[in-house]
Amino acid sequence: MSVVQSGSVLLSGGMVTTASRSRLAAVRLAGGRITEIGDLTPRPGEAVLGCHGCLILPGGIETHTHLDLEAMGTVTADDFASGTRSALAGGTTTVLDFATQFHGESLMDGLRRWHKKAGGQAVTDYGFHLAMTQWRPEFAGEMAEVVEAGVTSFKLYMAYRGSMMVQDDEIYAALSASSRLGATIGFHCENGLVIDALARQELARGHTGAFYHQYTRPPDLEREAAGRVTTIARLLDAQHYIVHLSAGETLEEVRRARRGGSKVVAETCPQYLLLDDSRYGTPDSGGSDKRDGIDDRNDSDELGVRAFVMSPPLRSAENLDALWAGLADGGIQFVGTDHCSFNLHGQKDQATDFASIPNGAPGVELRLALLYTYGVAGGRISPERFVAVTAENAARYFGLYPRKGTLLPGSDADIVVYDPGPAWTVSHDRLHDNVDHTPYEGFTIRGRVRDVFLRGHRVVADGVLAGDLAPGQFLACGPPDSDIS
Ligand SMILES: [Zn+2]
Repeated sequence: MSVVQSGSVLLSGGMVTTASRSRLAAVRLAGGRITEIGDLTPRPGEAVLGCHGCLILPGGIETHTHLDLEAMGTVTADDFASGTRSALAGGTTTVLDFATQFHGESLMDGLRRWHKKAGGQAVTDYGFHLAMTQWRPEFAGEMAEVVEAGVTSFKLYMAYRGSMMVQDDEIYAALSASSRLGATIGFHCENGLVIDALARQELARGHTGAFYHQYTRPPDLEREAAGRVTTIARLLDAQHYIVHLSAGETLEEVRRARRGGSKVVAETCPQYLLLDDSRYGTPDSGGSDKRDGIDDRNDSDELGVRAFVMSPPLRSAENLDALWAGLADGGIQFVGTDHCSFNLHGQKDQATDFASIPNGAPGVELRLALLYTYGVAGGRISPERFVAVTAENAARYFGLYPRKGTLLPGSDADIVVYDPGPAWTVSHDRLHDNVDHTPYEGFTIRGRVRDVFLRGHRVVADGVLAGDLAPGQFLACGPPDSDIS
């Protein structure tokens, strides 16, 4: 079938699924928007796409990527072109990336640099959070300009001492400013000072292998930081959220804070739902001395472990069940991937010890497929909850609803047709990113992203990503709505 973009298109026979309901219905698209949903019959000359047996879903909203990010002496393997192609192929039509202000820059400098990186390159629609790598008193004023420019969420790091970590009084100052502006701040919650002490201690013992990455970043230090930030924010009644929540005990801390009245929500990632710390092997699985880089007899083991070096690290298996439960019952509101890709060869293999390995992993393309497979098909979440955590809650929290994140007349025609039938096995050569591996190699996936529409344009047709993709649009985000569960 070829879709005439200028006319209307009818998606017929599918299960139209939003965060609140599922029903067999047809969806009509015209002029880049959804115009009608219901028991519709084709008009003369109208293009019809049969969706029998498929789910018709709102396009996915990815809440957490780092595209074209300079970090740890290198730059991420994916830029906006490759990262958003990968997103689109996987059914994500909106990407929220972390524009980053580096030391010495104003906040608007950082935002302008990110507009240059993304403009004309991104093929999904995109918005930004603004990550601040330090706190300076003048930022309180600059944040107003950033909000005015359509970025209503900021980020601060409680880890990475010396490069990005902020102190408690700075967190207080930033939250005061953001709450006055009606904005929110996402926090990377880990106690950076203690992590630093643990890392120095292991390095001094000659423990340099990638195994020690997780060993020096225990879950306690995430829970502690999350408790600290929710406490500070409660003094100000300030909206805030926990990015990439990784541990069951942190989730309990966040639940407690919310019961106590904190305006806090939480994001987790597929890697914390599906991968555990067995990926780090044992203290001996990598060489204990990597001063010469990776070239001794344990090289391949060490490199394999480095693929999973991310912060926070993967946790023990019991945490996975706790996070799935939180995703199902509203303890966790949305799922981003923290897509921050570095090649194993030429990037992660260059580090001389665990503390200098570029942190991060790819994941943007498989987010919907993994959540569908292990969540919906796995019986852990309903199809409606799947839509809530992959699209609608993010749209509401980041002020994009109902233009994005749902299927309603008037919404952008960002639509995924998901065929739940086929099963396939993940291998990296099937993906569209620009990195040399996937953490999910060998995973079984139920179903596939069959078709994707972005503002009415059919960008994936029968599983094939279009060759000529129009640039995506920048999305100005509105005020966060933290009344989501
Ligand atoms: Zn991140």
